[in-house]
Amino acid sequence: MSSPPLQPNPYAPPVTPAPLQGMPPPGSEQFAPCPQCRCPYAKRIKWTFWGGALGPWMFTHVRCTHCGSAYNGKTGQWNTNNIVVYMLVGVLVGLALGVAVVLVPILMK
Ligand SMILES: [Zn+2]
Repeated sequence: MSSPPLQPNPYAPPVTPAPLQGMPPPGSEQFAPCPQCRCPYAKRIKWTFWGGALGPWMFTHVRCTHCGSAYNGKTGQWNTNNIVVYMLVGVLVGLALGVAVVLVPILMK
């Protein structure tokens, strides 16, 4: 004796699907895998203390939804070097602007 194959009940209320493996958590996007835990889902960081709004945008700076690490969502590498260079450039530009502000009025005389 064989039982008939189970048919899905068309009148059953729709079942909310369980979070699928590999589905991005709400609000996150798929980026290069996290260098810490290899999770591919992260959220863009809108603002950082080191780069304001421009720095994290330039380096695709994202925060892993799994372990919270911040890294480069384009390359899957740490952004540490980029951040150091960005801050150095920022300091140099700031110094250059400061020097220009001091020098230009002197040179214009
Ligand atoms: Zn991670």
